[in-house]
Amino acid sequence: MRYSRQEAFIGKASQKKLRKSLVTIVGCGAIGSSAGEYLARAGVNLRLIDRDIVEMSNLHRQLFREEDVGRPKAEALKERLEEANSEVRIEAVSDDLNASNIEKYLKNSSLVIDGTDNIETRFLINDFCLKNKVPFTYAAAIKSEGLLTLIVPGETPCLRCFMPLAYTHDTCETAGVLGPAVGVMGVISAAEAIKHLIGKDMIKGSLLHVNFYKNLYELIEIKRNKTCPACKGSYEFLGKPAKQVVELCGGTYQFLFGKEVDIQDISERLEKNRDFKIVKGKHIVQIIHKKYVISLFKRRMIVQGAHSPREVKILAARIIGA
Ligand SMILES: [Zn+2]
Repeated sequence: MRYSRQEAFIGKASQKKLRKSLVTIVGCGAIGSSAGEYLARAGVNLRLIDRDIVEMSNLHRQLFREEDVGRPKAEALKERLEEANSEVRIEAVSDDLNASNIEKYLKNSSLVIDGTDNIETRFLINDFCLKNKVPFTYAAAIKSEGLLTLIVPGETPCLRCFMPLAYTHDTCETAGVLGPAVGVMGVISAAEAIKHLIGKDMIKGSLLHVNFYKNLYELIEIKRNKTCPACKGSYEFLGKPAKQVVELCGGTYQFLFGKEVDIQDISERLEKNRDFKIVKGKHIVQIIHKKYVISLFKRRMIVQGAHSPREVKILAARIIGA
């Protein structure tokens, strides 16, 4: 009954394929949350990976609620999608995806949705997927424009074939983005994933370029670059160590501990100091300290309100004694 309208179009055999699939969504922002919405409803099992927490400035485009602000995105999205379809299996991973854990987090994926917003992680996903022959969607949006393609290892050009290493671009924070523009890129990612999982391809080998202000929709042919290292089997991003401090968005930083810490122990110690206000969650402890809001996880912390990596390192030392 649940899938009857979808089955009427794609057929029972294709619906069975979807029910057996596992799609891993990396990045549960606007693209990841809207792709996840349609994939969960379509009956696809999901693994949701995101290192970030929900902020008020996310809500105009990412499918979270006001009460989710401060929660890890992967967990908030899992809860939302389970409410829409309790039949599918949904895992939430609130962690930084990097070369040291990508094998563990992306294993057994039928397909990967790239919903990230940074080039380093995109190239890491590209290397993993090429090496392990996992198809993946690439999608990005800024202002009122979007780009999207489906990369099938061995069949299509890869991300590095057409995207330069030194690629820098505006971010949602600096240039802004129209909510529906980025939402649609997520929905098209879900459509491409469904089509590929049931054996119907369309966008592969071309880059979809959309400009919603100009009502422009075009497919641009992309070609394999003969000098592309990833296509030749050299996966340099799989060997790159994760950076200890990265800026996720303006004033929001992630600090990786490099080991597992006992967050209950730390919060009990900090609670004794009046400079720290502690709010305990299930897998996360929120610490309010001076102008900072710190979300403490087992292997890392996210700091809001900092201005430099140096400031974040000093704070980390104060909190975990790193
Ligand atoms: Zn390539």
